[in-house]
Amino acid sequence: MIVLADRMQQILMLLREKSVAGENGCILWTGYRQPNGYGWINYRGIRIAAHRAALIASGVDVPDDLDACHRCDVRACINTDHLYVGTRSQNMADCTARARHNKPRGEHHWCSKLSTSVVLEIRRRWRAGEKQTAIAKELGVHPATISRISRGIWRSEVSL
Ligand SMILES: [Zn+2]
Repeated sequence: MIVLADRMQQILMLLREKSVAGENGCILWTGYRQPNGYGWINYRGIRIAAHRAALIASGVDVPDDLDACHRCDVRACINTDHLYVGTRSQNMADCTARARHNKPRGEHHWCSKLSTSVVLEIRRRWRAGEKQTAIAKELGVHPATISRISRGIWRSEVSL
C-alpha cells in the first residue's frame, strides 16, 4: 500500500469529511457506495474501499490478499472498532453465520452481534450498579438492548 502511505492525510481527511454517525456506534461513509453497499473512495488516483482505507489509515496492516471485514455487518461503516482483518473465507463464513441476508435489521439483529466478552462486560457493570443508560451510551447501543442483556433475556447462552 505504497500509494496510501503518502496519501494518508488525504484519506483521513476524506474519511472525516464524508462520514456521519450512525446507529450502534457505526460511522457511515456518505460518499460513493458500490452497488454491493461498500463505500468506495475514488479520489485523485486513490481507488480503494472506504472501510479498508479506514483500517489502513488507522495504522492496521491489511495485506492485499486479506479482507477488511465488518463485525457490525454495516457495509458502509468505517468505524475501525467495527472492522477486523480476515481472510475472504472468514468473511464469507461470518456473513453466513450472521445470516446477513435473512435477519431483519434492528436491535435484535444488533444484539446477536455483540461479542460474548461485551455481553459479559455489560452484565458485570450492571451488577456493579452502573446505570443501563450510561452503559448503553458508552457502547452506542439502545438502552433496551442493555436492559435485555442485563436481565438475561437476550444472549442467555452466554453464562457467567
Ligand atoms: Zn459499524
